[in-house]
Amino acid sequence: MTQEETVLSDEPSVIAQTVADQKLRMQRLSMSCRSYVFTFSLVSFCWFQGMIAGPIVFHYALAVILLNLVFFALIKTDYNLRYSDPSMTFAQIVVSIVPPMYVMYFLDSGQARSVFLYLGIVPVLYGILALNTRQFIKVAIWYVIVFSAMLGMLALNRSSVLDISLELIQLVALILVMTQMAWIGGYINKLRLKLRKQNHELKSTTEKLGVALEQIGELARRDELTGLYNRRHLFEVLDQECNRVSRKHEPFSVCIADIDFFKQVNDTHGHQAGDQVLRKVAKELNDSLRNIDCIGRYGGEEFLLILPQTSLDGAVIKADRIRQQVENLTFTSAGEIFKVTLSIGIAEHKLGERTDDTILRADQALYRAKDSGRNKTVSEDD
Ligand code: GH3
Ligand code: MG
Ligand code: MG
Repeated sequence: MTQEETVLSDEPSVIAQTVADQKLRMQRLSMSCRSYVFTFSLVSFCWFQGMIAGPIVFHYALAVILLNLVFFALIKTDYNLRYSDPSMTFAQIVVSIVPPMYVMYFLDSGQARSVFLYLGIVPVLYGILALNTRQFIKVAIWYVIVFSAMLGMLALNRSSVLDISLELIQLVALILVMTQMAWIGGYINKLRLKLRKQNHELKSTTEKLGVALEQIGELARRDELTGLYNRRHLFEVLDQECNRVSRKHEPFSVCIADIDFFKQVNDTHGHQAGDQVLRKVAKELNDSLRNIDCIGRYGGEEFLLILPQTSLDGAVIKADRIRQQVENLTFTSAGEIFKVTLSIGIAEHKLGERTDDTILRADQALYRAKDSGRNKTVSEDD
């Protein structure tokens, strides 16, 4: 994702990431401010030793405060997000090199200047967190140019304080140090980018794995033919419901619905037509339930309905409505239209009893529905 997209995107995850990035940029700015404080203490010490005049210290402090205020304002107002590098690391390093050079110009001792030169390298270290080799080389060239310009100014205006061989050694040392820093920094940066890529890949693989596991879990809960829950999941739901009921003391009921004379459907219209009947009846049952209800394929042409927060009376009304809906369905096979009916046995769970016992009572009611002529809804009390 490009920076432009990051800024323009309204996605909560992107916004959260941008907020986190800005916080990190503020932290880095405060770190670089601390470095300035260290250099400032050295500048002040030089003044204390009588090596530079008071106004130079003031100029240094003013420049540093103003520069950091600009970066602070850019981050605070999110203006930095418009830049190709919102961290502004390159810009911060480039400007950080100038104030110490200004102080160096006013120092008479070449050795004292060299101290500032080494201290000035510290901000470049921040580049290790962000710059690539090319940017590092640019910083190195810039540092050498600014240092050379400072020496040039000294040669022009205050040549008496220059010790040419010492300055040359310092210049060569600076070039060597900066070249190596560019090389090491670029190497670290490459490693960092590789790590970030690997992290990203790991994250997306984990996410995909999570989705795949979720799908596998869902498949393991479903009956292949009808798409309804399978018997194993039904028993899990029953156990959960049992636990819930014992905590909340609410009733729940179960219904076993069995298609009447289903063997005849297979025998007359073929197994495939039988499968179609199972699918259509399953869909009809599923569509007529509330969100909290649960339905699954209990056996070949038997379905189990779990109705939470439903007493026996409520379950009977609901079951009978379903029975009528199925009675009104029509099926077609090889041009022949036919119908099927359901027999349903209903039982309400009794507090503390095993779910098997509730199902047994529903099953017994189902048998009575079959015995009394089928296409019937019979409760455990009937
Ligand atoms: P009853 O009214 O007493 O319930 O009679 P029935 O014919 O419905 O019951 P029975 O138990 O005698 O027969 C059930 C039939 O359901 C037998 C079996 O072949 C059929 N069956 C079970 N599973 C499937 C399936 O997945 N697809 C098809 N097409 N038929 C199935
Ligand atoms: Mg049957
Ligand atoms: Mg049966």
